[in-house]
Amino acid sequence: MFKIFITRKIPDVGIQLLKDKKYDIVVSRFDRTLTSREIIKYAKGVDALLCLLTDKINSEVMDGIGKQLKIIANYAVGVDNIDLEAAKSRGIMVSNTPGILTEAVVEHTVALLFTAVKRIAEADRFTRAGKFNGWEPMLFLGSGVSGKILGIIGLGRIGGEVAKRMRDGFNVRIIYYDQVRNEEIEKSLNIEYFDLETLLKMADFVSIHVPLLPSTRHLIGEQELKLMKPSAYLINTSRGPVVDEKALVEALKNKTIRGAALDVFEFEPKLSSGLAKLNNVVLTPHIASATEETRGKMSEMAAQNIIDVLSGGKPKNIVV
Ligand code: NAD
Repeated sequence: MFKIFITRKIPDVGIQLLKDKKYDIVVSRFDRTLTSREIIKYAKGVDALLCLLTDKINSEVMDGIGKQLKIIANYAVGVDNIDLEAAKSRGIMVSNTPGILTEAVVEHTVALLFTAVKRIAEADRFTRAGKFNGWEPMLFLGSGVSGKILGIIGLGRIGGEVAKRMRDGFNVRIIYYDQVRNEEIEKSLNIEYFDLETLLKMADFVSIHVPLLPSTRHLIGEQELKLMKPSAYLINTSRGPVVDEKALVEALKNKTIRGAALDVFEFEPKLSSGLAKLNNVVLTPHIASATEETRGKMSEMAAQNIIDVLSGGKPKNIVV
C-alpha cells in the first residue's frame, strides 16, 4: 500500500480523493510549519509527499525520506521551496497547482492596489480610533486609478489576468515587461511591451507577477525603486525576495515612491525592520490564494498529481 505524508491540514476534498484510493495517509497533527527534521521523521518511507510552500524540501530531506519517494506534490504554484535539481537527479517528480490560483490572486492584487491608492487600511485605522470628526475636503486624499498606467512585471497567467481586468474594468493603460515578449498577447490584449527600466519610469502602479528564481531575486532594489515616479505604487503578490525589502522600506520612508502593497515578504513570516510602522504600505499575510474555492481546488489538484504518479503515470502539473 502506498504511503503518503501531508505536512499540514489542507481542505478535506483532496485528502478524500487519496483515501478513496486506499492509500496509507498521515496528515501532520501539528498546526504549524514542520522543521526539516520533523518532515524526515514523519515522512520516512513514504511514496508521496504533499507539502506547502513553507516547507523547505532540499536534498537532505529527500534522502531522509528515502529512495521510494516518487513525487513531491507542492500545494502551491510557486516551487521555490523545493530543490528541483536535487529532485530531478533522484528521479523524484515535482508537481504544482497552476492556473486554479489565478482568479484568487488576481482579485487580491486588484484589492491591494485599491487599498493602497484609496488609503483604505489607513482610513480604517483612523475611523476605528475615533478620529473621524466629520467630512473634510482634504481628508485621506488618495490617487485615482482610471486612465493611469499599470506596469505588469511578468505577464504569465496571473499578470495577464490582472492586465485584462484592470484594462476592461478601469480603463487603465497596460504596459508590461517579461523575459519573453509575446506579440500575440500584446495584440489581443492591446498592451505594450517595454524594458524594465522604461516600465518603471512610466508606470503609476507596478505589479509584480514573476516566479522566484535566481534571475528574479531582488529584481526590484534600490536602483529600480529610484526609477519609479514619486507618485507611483508597488504591488507584490509574487514572492517576497523578488523585492529588496530593506530598499523598499527606505523608499517608502523617503517618499521615493508613494506607497506599496505586499502579500509576500522577503523573510516571511518576519517583516523587515520599520516596514510595519509605515502608513504608506498595506500588508497582508500571504493570503492572495486564500479563498475557500481556490484552496479546495488546490487540495484536489495536489492529490490528483499524487494519484497520477502512484498509478504509474506522470502528473498533469509536472514541474520536473
Ligand atoms: P506564470 O509562470 O504563468 O508567469 C510567470 C511569468 O514571469 C512568465 O510570463 C515568465 O516568462 C515571467 N518571468 C519569469 N522569469 C522572469 C524574469 N527573470 N524576468 C521577467 N519575467 C520573468 O506564473 P503565475 O501562475 O502567473 O504565477 C506567478 C507567481 O506568482 C508564482 O510563481 C508564485 O510565486 C506567485 N504566486 C503567489 C501567490 C500568493 O499567494 N501570493 C499565489 C499564486 C502564485
